[in-house]
Amino acid sequence: MGNTGMLYLVATPIGNLEDITLRALRVLREADIIAAEDTRQTLKLLNHFEIKNRLVSYYEHNKTEKGNYLIGQLMEGKDVALVSDAGSPGISDPGEELVGMAAEKGINVTMVPGPAAVIAGVVLSGLPSGRFGFEGFLPVNKRVRSKRIQAVKDDTRTLVFYEAPHKLIHTLKDLRSVLGNRRISLARELTKKFEEIWRTTLDEAIDKYEHETPKGEFVLVIEGADEEALERERISSWEELSLTEHVRFYMEEGLDKKAAMKKVSEDRKISKREVYNSLVEKKESSNKKDPAINTTGPHHRV
Ligand code: SAM
Repeated sequence: MGNTGMLYLVATPIGNLEDITLRALRVLREADIIAAEDTRQTLKLLNHFEIKNRLVSYYEHNKTEKGNYLIGQLMEGKDVALVSDAGSPGISDPGEELVGMAAEKGINVTMVPGPAAVIAGVVLSGLPSGRFGFEGFLPVNKRVRSKRIQAVKDDTRTLVFYEAPHKLIHTLKDLRSVLGNRRISLARELTKKFEEIWRTTLDEAIDKYEHETPKGEFVLVIEGADEEALERERISSWEELSLTEHVRFYMEEGLDKKAAMKKVSEDRKISKREVYNSLVEKKESSNKKDPAINTTGPHHRV
């Protein structure tokens, strides 16, 4: 790999300057270059800690050109510290492309961990935090946005979104219309003096912010889909099907015949043998009218 430099992804505070690690301060001091999303913002942080170092900008609209430059510097053996405006680089902030580019060139990459609003939002939500899905900011484009929310509708994990105050009400309404009235925790001003965690429901949040202008950036943490309700829905959706239709349903979903029959036996809480026998009986009585359910094929063993 030669003597390439190290790319450090350095997490910085999300509102409280005390939340900087000793290692972050050392790396910011010792790196050859600090690549910052907004150099003025980072300068405030550096000034506060009396750090003087070379700053270059690296943000969404110059990331290809500046990315190539930074990779060149790393290849020459320089150490680069990447910081975003707040929190962890790469989390709804520039960083992932640079890590990808560095990895491709075999450059060492490490992280100096620290704050990330998503983690604070989840652990303070009071909602299950063992499994969660981070969705970041919803896309602006209406169609893509709607698809994105639809895609997580049946996700049973806790869901996390980022949102800016001026879009909050719009996002709460869009989420409500697809996900239903779920529990939500709205975290704002995290780590700051007026930190607020409001554990409520989507309906109540909409009601409040229809009459009040929200202040500060938000982490929205929403409970996942109800596992039991989904199971009930799944059961009621196959209850109307005949056994043959039920097997065909799974085959159309992409399962092979054996797997489809296994799913049917699980759904109906009957043995695989019973499913098989019913299909054979059905097939014999229908005189091979149903080619989709060929129970005599070479792969069939139940
Ligand atoms: N990289 C950052 C991180 O690690 O959390 C996120 C950057 S993203 C551009 C900014 C969003 O993060 C905000 O719109 C908000 O959703 C969330 N956020 C950042 N700081 C926050 C804070 N102090 N309180 C609540 N949300 C915050």
